[in-house]
Amino acid sequence: MIRIICFLFFLFGIVNPVAAVVEMRLADAKDSVLIRSVYHRDDTVFLPLREILPALQLIGVWDGAKRLYWINAKPDAILLAPGSHKLRYGKSSLTLQQAPRFFAGELCVPEEVVTTHLPRLLGLKIIYNNHDAVDRPKKHFLFNEENDSSALPLPLQQIVIDPGHGGDDPGAISPEGVKEKDLTLELARRLEKILKMEGLAPIRLTRDGDYAVSQSRRTGEVHGTAAENILLSLHVSAWKSSQTHGCTLYFLPERDNEDNSFLLAQSLDAALQAAGVADCSFERVILSPLNRTSFPAILLELGYLTNPEELSLLASSDGQERIARALALGVKNYAANRLRRTTDVPVTQ
Ligand SMILES: [Zn+2]
Repeated sequence: MIRIICFLFFLFGIVNPVAAVVEMRLADAKDSVLIRSVYHRDDTVFLPLREILPALQLIGVWDGAKRLYWINAKPDAILLAPGSHKLRYGKSSLTLQQAPRFFAGELCVPEEVVTTHLPRLLGLKIIYNNHDAVDRPKKHFLFNEENDSSALPLPLQQIVIDPGHGGDDPGAISPEGVKEKDLTLELARRLEKILKMEGLAPIRLTRDGDYAVSQSRRTGEVHGTAAENILLSLHVSAWKSSQTHGCTLYFLPERDNEDNSFLLAQSLDAALQAAGVADCSFERVILSPLNRTSFPAILLELGYLTNPEELSLLASSDGQERIARALALGVKNYAANRLRRTTDVPVTQ
């Protein structure tokens, strides 16, 4: 029995994303604070602002609209932005070796902010102890794929997920009675959960229950610029023949030079293929709700409920999770590629 428990601890130790190895306090404080979420990436230790600021008796605020983090210091606020190497303090700014980034939905800063910059800028005496100073790469991130783009900030302001059909409109129905409207909602919820953990952008579901939604409500209001929004409209198909199978991604004919919808479709397809869940064809078509948006939008027909193999993927918990993870990765890579085409995210006031 003890052996089994030890083995479980061993396993847990391997997959546990987070090691509580950093202790810190102000020199005149009695007790040290244990930082529970410590992330290793690119030979750098990252610490969540939410945990380190209270230890330093500082308060911070995240401004989601401007994508800026404010630390209320005296006499000036300190400003940080995910993906930006600039740390601004009053009128001056300095360059960080690593930019702040999100881990598990939390904005984290490189260790240097605590060990070097905050003491220097604010005259703080900080006792800092990293008991695990040897950087070892840890596989803990949801999107820790080979070509890892999780290190990049994501220039999206909104992700709209539209679970197709609902209420009186069941959509496609399998011979066994599995309804499209239920599968799309379940998939949308899973996708929302995964994307939320990433802290990529505000997520909006066009419905979160079994009710009808008008076409005009199947898109979102634009947040920021059009290119900073995306819409995924989730569907599955049915057909007379159980042989018919496959996934199709629909999007509008090219309407801007960047053709972001196409790039998004490519990214989603690549992720679905890599996950071994689908190999999609593309079709450009003028179709609602795509034509109601001004931003990159894809209508996904993810497979056929009338095809036994695809039904078992689409309707099983495991299959849904695999599809949701692949879609999340596709969104993430799309956003990261967009960012590479733009430049460094500037810290603006
Ligand atoms: Zn449908």
